[in-house]
Amino acid sequence: MTFKDFNFKELLQKAIEEAGFKEPSPIQVEAIPHVLQGKDIVGQAHTGTGKTAAFGLPILNKLGKKAGEALVIVPTRELAMQVSDELYRFGKHLGINTATVYGGQSYSRQIKLLENSNVIVATPGRLLDLLRNEQINIKPNFVVLDEADEMLDMGFLDDIKDIFTYLPESRQTLLFSATMPVAIKNLAKTILKEPEFITITQANVTNVNITQTFYVVDEKERDDALIRLFDYKNPKKSIIFCRTKKDVDRLSTFLVSQGFMAKALHGDMEQKQREEAIKAFKSSKLEVLIATDVAARGLDVNDVTHVFNYHLPFDGESYVHRIGRTGRAGKDGIAISIVTPHEFRTLQRIEKTIGTKLESRVVPNISTVKQ
Ligand code: ADP
Ligand code: MG
Repeated sequence: MTFKDFNFKELLQKAIEEAGFKEPSPIQVEAIPHVLQGKDIVGQAHTGTGKTAAFGLPILNKLGKKAGEALVIVPTRELAMQVSDELYRFGKHLGINTATVYGGQSYSRQIKLLENSNVIVATPGRLLDLLRNEQINIKPNFVVLDEADEMLDMGFLDDIKDIFTYLPESRQTLLFSATMPVAIKNLAKTILKEPEFITITQANVTNVNITQTFYVVDEKERDDALIRLFDYKNPKKSIIFCRTKKDVDRLSTFLVSQGFMAKALHGDMEQKQREEAIKAFKSSKLEVLIATDVAARGLDVNDVTHVFNYHLPFDGESYVHRIGRTGRAGKDGIAISIVTPHEFRTLQRIEKTIGTKLESRVVPNISTVKQ
């Protein structure tokens, strides 16, 4: 199957070719025909499988010239920018404008942008703000709830429900998520009409392109183990996950002191600093990004070679999200977790959720703890 089989408008097809997309991914194959037919859908596929284009391409193909005709709701500012960039890339030859709406930006500028844009990509908080204060009056024909499980995790469920009270009944609604917790299924029942359910993989199945291992060390050896693993693996571009913002700050200071081109990414940083860190990482001016779960949600950097769990996350779903930052778009990826004996139960829980046993390895030249 090729993208030509969807019979998209010529100028859209041209942009797809320019983007270098050859074959549609499984979620795209399944979802695009339904979206073109005007159906509501719930689409589930793991991270990095092309969900943005799965809704973006058919919507762009159907758009007219009305402002605010499509609304895409995403959990974070970073994702809003990313999705908006992707949609712009495909819609530009069609003359489609996209606006990005998120907190921390000037209201007046946003409102002006909105009035002139066909597609609006927004985070829930700011969008609800604008709708409540009657600062925007949009009647989208297409509404997408992207990365719905992440929105739930971030506590946006009530905001989402509220937002939908402002949207017209006669709309096509699409919901995409990497995992499908009960709360999302219930939400889908209330905001979608007779949706088609598309599931590409079981929830929590990790990408086969990712090699997953773990190293057991004592608590005080985490930093040392990390440095040795860096020496040994020589990662070109990596993300290190820590449990707290404080850990992120401390570790990034430490790594910089060790000569790494590293930066922190977490929710307490200024928006501008966060954008700068992501930009530097994308353009390979940085080799290491040290992040919390929330800050790295949905972050789409295609060539991340390694994901390190400096601490294990508490549950399997977070683990899947984290390691999904690597091995994207068919590339190989490596996920390495540093685990202390205190984390063995967490590790077992994660292994149970993902249905795989992770392989244990020994840190080069470090005294390991017996399991
Ligand atoms: P998801 O939302 O499922 O996590 P994304 O939509 O962010 O995934 O896509 C991940 C990456 O794969 C993006 O960089 C995107 O441009 C790329 N991509 C998506 N679909 C294709 C395709 N059919 N061919 C090649 N690359 C693709
Ligand atoms: Mg996505």
